[in-house]
Amino acid sequence: MLDHLSYTAPEPKVISGAKQDWELVIGLEVHAQVSSNAKLFSGASTGFGAEPNSHVAFVDAAMPGMLPVINEFCVAQAVKTGLGIKAAINLRSAFDRKNYFYPDLPQGYQISQLYHPIVGEGEVIVDMGPGVARRVRIERIHLEQDAGKSIHDMDPTMSFVDLNRTGVALMEIVSRPDIRGPEEAAAYVSKLRQIMRYLGTCDGNMQNGNLRADVNVSVCPPGAYERYQETQDFSHLGTRCEIKNMNSLRFIQAAIDYEARRQIAILEDGGKVTQETRLYDPDKGETRSMRSKEEAHDYRYFPDPDLLPLEIEQAWIDGIAAGLPELPDAKKARFVEALGLSEYDAGVLTAEVENADYFEAVAQGRDGKMAANWVINELFGRLNKEGLSVETSPVSAAQLGGVIDLIAKGDISGKIAKDLFEILWTEGGDPAQIVEARGMKQVTDLGAIEKAVDEIIAANPGQVEKAKANPKLAGWFVGQVLKATGGKANPAAVNELVAKKLG
Ligand code: ADP
Ligand code: MG
Repeated sequence: MLDHLSYTAPEPKVISGAKQDWELVIGLEVHAQVSSNAKLFSGASTGFGAEPNSHVAFVDAAMPGMLPVINEFCVAQAVKTGLGIKAAINLRSAFDRKNYFYPDLPQGYQISQLYHPIVGEGEVIVDMGPGVARRVRIERIHLEQDAGKSIHDMDPTMSFVDLNRTGVALMEIVSRPDIRGPEEAAAYVSKLRQIMRYLGTCDGNMQNGNLRADVNVSVCPPGAYERYQETQDFSHLGTRCEIKNMNSLRFIQAAIDYEARRQIAILEDGGKVTQETRLYDPDKGETRSMRSKEEAHDYRYFPDPDLLPLEIEQAWIDGIAAGLPELPDAKKARFVEALGLSEYDAGVLTAEVENADYFEAVAQGRDGKMAANWVINELFGRLNKEGLSVETSPVSAAQLGGVIDLIAKGDISGKIAKDLFEILWTEGGDPAQIVEARGMKQVTDLGAIEKAVDEIIAANPGQVEKAKANPKLAGWFVGQVLKATGGKANPAAVNELVAKKLG
């Protein structure tokens, strides 16, 4: 099985301070909303954008005496995600209460998995360009509940609470501090999103907050990170700050850059970075302190007495593993190795699984590179321009495949094929029938081409003299013949005939 391509690690981002160089060290805690119709411990709907407080079961509202019941589907989704990042799945995990007060958390605690997460160590390969990738280790994935939403900007004197999101299942995916720059952090989130979208375990919608990240940033002198890697001793790294709740790739990058420079200024000034939670303000482009870093004991974590430890069987996991789709790295490697695509093109085509499926339908039984060119340059180019996607494309994979067949058979030239694509885009229809009906077929009839060549030569004696002295000018005749035949003459045949006639 092709796993992923061989790669070398990118250079870490270096920021030059006033006194010395600094490197960045970043670890992410990504919160991914589990794709599921029902919540983690209740049957209430997870539908987005509903009337406030209309998707709230008694247990979500923490009515006295209500008991949580685990949603097996959400557990399966977490296992699937774990398998997708090649992680160890824990046969036994357990839920803990993380106690804190918040108006949108009626229970007074969040049910999470601090001590015994369902998913253990895994990895994500983060592509940073052809042949360059970073391996980011995953520490764990645990299941937990989301909180509700407090709304402070609807009324001048009152705040409102919407509990629709309360109790929705989240996967918290915790990375090791293996990310070495802002671009890598964004690429890491993109890669996780891509994997989960392939798996169908999280829709990755960042605008709706279905995928958001807490970003931990520290800086250290060159060489310190290598010592951490050798020893796994965190004391080689700088003190980190955590930037909470980021749901935009652009802001993640800007926040990391700002935060690293803020820490460097403190350190070069002889100060110390205090470990704390910070918030990014996109309007100012700054991070500001939210609270000093809390410790686990502040939350008085303890095993939730309402929930038994979660025990799952290996056979159940094996069943989920057997149903996993082909994942992005494997698909990309297959496109490169089996279809001869460049790594770049394979990356573009596998970005979204729907795109990859469309491409494969076009490439099936045809030349892979040619199919890739047409899908990326003509189809994606046009879809982007018109704000469409492959699902809403006016040209189907079968139609595009038909165009490629006509080129391969020599029925139409590449130039005519673009006209044909345009007709398919605006009017639809069957490519072969259109070419037949509108006389778009390439002329390969040598007699007809020869006649056209002879006519051009007869009409331009001056040019003929020049071309005889300078063979490079033969191209002019080829152009004239193609023009005279409406682009339908087979260019190779025209070239050959012109060369022969000019001697
Ligand atoms: P906590 O549970 O207190 O937030 P964790 O050890 O779980 O602490 O770490 C949270 C995140 O911070 C992880 O993603 C981890 O990789 C990252 N992290 C830990 N140390 C550093 C550091 N020195 N610099 C950057 N990120 C770090
Ligand atoms: Mg944390």
